[in-house]
Amino acid sequence: MGCTSHDYVYIGAVNVFMDEELLKVIEAWRCRACNAVLAGERQMGIITSTEGILGTVSAGSGERWMLVARQGRGSLPPDATLVRTSPGLRIKVDSIEPGDSTLVVREDMSVVREVDEEPPKTVMVYDVLSVLKGYIDLSTWPPKVFTLQAGRRH
Ligand SMILES: [Zn+2]
Repeated sequence: MGCTSHDYVYIGAVNVFMDEELLKVIEAWRCRACNAVLAGERQMGIITSTEGILGTVSAGSGERWMLVARQGRGSLPPDATLVRTSPGLRIKVDSIEPGDSTLVVREDMSVVREVDEEPPKTVMVYDVLSVLKGYIDLSTWPPKVFTLQAGRRH
């Protein structure tokens, strides 16, 4: 807090795969002075240097970066999207299961369906910081998640 200009250090990426195809890369940076986290989502292909940078989550703000993965079926392909969340926030998802289309972030940052407060069936939500230095493979459900961070297993 109080940084006039953040001093960001790259802290890692999550590669989002569909089997062997790389769909996108989620990247994160942390400010050395205030711990704010900058995150972005890069599609594959030609982009500009700042495209896909979504913004900053300040330390102590209660906000967190989440990776929201959805199961695919038919014309709706599987996908994983970077979402800035905070307690009480509603997350809209194009999901194959109608009950999973509106999710609510609880005080403990767990995510449930708005309709019945049950965990979603066709959507998985990950704390981005816990899956950095890793990958997620959407070709299976639940997705295969791997990270090189010590002590983290999914
Ligand atoms: Zn800062």
